[in-house]
Amino acid sequence: MNRVSVDTAGRPPSVDALARELAIRHSLPHAVLVDIARRAIANGSIADVKKIADELASELAQSLLRDVVNATGVLLHTNLGRAPVAVQTINRASNLELNMLTGERGSRQDAVGKLLALLCGAQAALVVNNNAAAVLLVVAALANSRDVAVSRGESVEIGGNFRIPEVTEQSGARLVDVGTTNRTRLRDYQKAIDKRGNDIALVLKVHPSNYRVSGFVEDTPTRELATLSVPVAVDIGSGLIDNTCPWLEGRTPAWLANEPAARQTLKDGAALVMFSGDKLFGGPQCGVIAGRADLVEACAQHPLARALRPGSLTMLSMQSLALAYLDRTVTTEITFWQMATIPVSELQLRAEKIISASGVGEVCSLDSIPGAGSAPGATIASAGIVIAGDHLAKLRKHDVPIIARVKDSKTFIDLRTVRPQDDAVLASALKSLQK
Ligand SMILES: *Cc1c(COP(=O)(O)O)cnc(C)c1O
Repeated sequence: MNRVSVDTAGRPPSVDALARELAIRHSLPHAVLVDIARRAIANGSIADVKKIADELASELAQSLLRDVVNATGVLLHTNLGRAPVAVQTINRASNLELNMLTGERGSRQDAVGKLLALLCGAQAALVVNNNAAAVLLVVAALANSRDVAVSRGESVEIGGNFRIPEVTEQSGARLVDVGTTNRTRLRDYQKAIDKRGNDIALVLKVHPSNYRVSGFVEDTPTRELATLSVPVAVDIGSGLIDNTCPWLEGRTPAWLANEPAARQTLKDGAALVMFSGDKLFGGPQCGVIAGRADLVEACAQHPLARALRPGSLTMLSMQSLALAYLDRTVTTEITFWQMATIPVSELQLRAEKIISASGVGEVCSLDSIPGAGSAPGATIASAGIVIAGDHLAKLRKHDVPIIARVKDSKTFIDLRTVRPQDDAVLASALKSLQK
């Protein structure tokens, strides 16, 4: 085995010897360790080359994408990939674009689109890479070189640089501001349409997901917009399918009270709805466009659709989720809905067990939040474990990293967002805090 040491002439170790030495402690590919060794030798004084190389290798290993335990209590945590989904790997080929009846080329959208349409009460549906892509494609396909009417109160920015005026501009459409920041009525839209004749191709309604405006405010509901002479496309954002939540035996949780849903928005007369797959739908990152068959088809035929189409893992995952909704097996098969509906008493019991197994912490009441801009301001009663001190960094370094929350120098573990299967991992991580 090569040992790295500063030789008698005070020369730094060779890149290769240092890379081999690093391989003893870090299971990273040789080429990666060689690169780290080079950087450490270039940057470090001879005495601490080895230490710097070790740090670089640890940093890289820790930054690799991997599973973590979400103990933050934010159900859809954008930093943690939003809705948790099982990756379904098949190393076989799939019939992604093969028509199984004819043996000819088919469309990856056919089956999934039909299931999603059925679910939403739409004529057709299309899956793209995310909701930003869905809005971009709808505006590009239906309003290119024409005008899109948007309420001034809905010309918003939603997380990560998704800004309605910029998306509209990128689509080659012109944005027509309607109404005022706090109040927009049907007659404001009507005036804009009358004034611009046939130029307005689309009314775009956007749910202000991540904030609430209160006071002297008024927006125009979809059912009124639907009386206008142009199609209405509604970005409902979070992807709640039905606000009566039939998959929860019709008991709609209070925290969902103000959330728009795909079925009801279409029933109110929207020509299209657009939503994210990885928020309240509980699926992988993607966006769904659902509604009138001719408009969905226009989106599917637009050249951008090719650039925005998801791969087979996403389509497969959306298919199993759509089947779970249609089968009403949502609370056993969709992790997000399991987490959202588990009774607080069960969380308290789990907390007690983890505390007695680890000898660390105390049971506490907590408030979880839906996250990802869904149902802003709403909370879901929860329970977990509180530990004196800030242990975030140490918990992140656990074999399976635990992502927790700190407030007032106390670490909080919210069990609502932890899968019960991970309770043992959590107990061992808490135990290790005593060392
Ligand atoms: C979250 C959200 C988006 C962005 O969706 P992505 O899937 O992250 O691209 C757009 N519009 C609304 C209303 C949203 O809530």
